[in-house]
Amino acid sequence: MKSISRCPYCGKEMHLGFIHQDRRALKWIPEEKDKGPFLQMFSKGIKLTDSLTTSSVEAFYCKDCEKIVIDLEGNTR
Ligand SMILES: [Zn+2]
Repeated sequence: MKSISRCPYCGKEMHLGFIHQDRRALKWIPEEKDKGPFLQMFSKGIKLTDSLTTSSVEAFYCKDCEKIVIDLEGNTR
């Protein structure tokens, strides 16, 4: 079940799409833990993709607000 389909900002329907990783798994790293792109594998964060299993993450886009929302629930990591 898709828990987000309406924009949390304006309430309109959002467009489902995917963000594919390049060579490295995508990860959200909190600002205070960020060590830059070359040391990202050592920084603790929230994994959005996995190089071996899930190489893309579902993301909803609102054209009006120009926001992209990633719902971690339902995205297997
Ligand atoms: Zn919106």
